[in-house]
Amino acid sequence: MKRVYMDHAGTTPVRREVLEAMLPYFTERFGNASTIYSYGREAKSAIEEAREKVAHLIGADPREVFFTAGGTESDNWAIRGIAHANKEKGKHIITSSIEHHAVLHTCEDLEKEGFKVTYLPVDKYGLVKVEDVINAITDETILVTIMHANNEIGTIEPIAEIGKALKKLDRKIYFHTDAVQTVGKIPVNVDELGVDLLSISAHKIYGPKGVGALYIRKGTKIKPFMTGGAQENKRRAGTENVPGIVGFGKAAELAEKELMEQYEKLSYLRDKLIKGIMERIPHVILNGHPTQRLPHNVNVCFKYIEGESLLLNLDMKGICASSGSACTSGSLEPSHVLLAIGLPHEIAHGSLRLTLGRDNTEEDVDYVLEVLPGIVEKLRSMSPLFPSKGGN
Ligand SMILES: *Cc1c(COP(=O)(O)O)cnc(C)c1O
Repeated sequence: MKRVYMDHAGTTPVRREVLEAMLPYFTERFGNASTIYSYGREAKSAIEEAREKVAHLIGADPREVFFTAGGTESDNWAIRGIAHANKEKGKHIITSSIEHHAVLHTCEDLEKEGFKVTYLPVDKYGLVKVEDVINAITDETILVTIMHANNEIGTIEPIAEIGKALKKLDRKIYFHTDAVQTVGKIPVNVDELGVDLLSISAHKIYGPKGVGALYIRKGTKIKPFMTGGAQENKRRAGTENVPGIVGFGKAAELAEKELMEQYEKLSYLRDKLIKGIMERIPHVILNGHPTQRLPHNVNVCFKYIEGESLLLNLDMKGICASSGSACTSGSLEPSHVLLAIGLPHEIAHGSLRLTLGRDNTEEDVDYVLEVLPGIVEKLRSMSPLFPSKGGN
């Protein structure tokens, strides 16, 4: 059967070139980077080369890039690390209501320790307003954390504008962004964005799972996330995941090289998919911003059906997609993001996220457009809510 993978915001396959770069670091170059003999030096220089590649992709100094075990750890470190190192200056954090759970649950956890958190609302497209961020600031505010783009609905937030507004204040408030969905997809530059901290994950850009990085601007007061050895400039203890880091570096290098080419290809396929769905299927809502949007993200709600049954039916046709976010599927609560943009529960339940990647072709899009209308129609014909059925 034909298989079409359209869940690249959930994870991506490791590219062949990435795997090949990693392999020697499992076997003949297995050294511990903290040792001084040749094996150790080899591992150390491979890590530093990867650090340069990741730094280059985001316009940072390599000394400001710290490897972690993924996007979740980077978010946790940024938020907890700033909160704990700066709590004598204040205990207030500003975030948005549509963040990834790695941010939201970390903030909720800090509330239990006595921190105050403002969860800003978003408009119907999922945009945070710059004025709302500024108006939420109190004398106690130490950190603003707003994602660069939303993983579910693809809306790109005005991070550079927020960064500018925060710089105008007479007091330093740290600014973190979760850029897991934007790095490698759209241009990301830490100075242009005006951020002090930025989270990245390797497996969203065709690198391995379990590796990521946190960008920490020079001079930022932050606690280490892990204590132990002196790795990562004494900020993140633990023997480095050398093959993973090497793979991440390779993935970053390739992402940078192919960024514009992929941007054009993916946004073309995205627009074709959105247009095709809108034309072929009635009672559909496009979620997220129509233009200020990730090039690979399509998110729609089909009224009168259940996202979960839609996913099962698509899977039977070989199409891999997502409803809500990967972390919430399996629970009956609709996505917090769809609720935050104002959708009622029953509509939020009928959501479908298709996220494109470098291996998707125009034929894949055509296949989805061929199969999807029939599935939606079938599910609606079985739904007691669909208006063409029953007594009303
Ligand atoms: C995937 C994702 C994460 C988590 O990254 P992991 O490397 O899977 O821990 C965090 N934030 C966003 C926006 C993501 O899409």
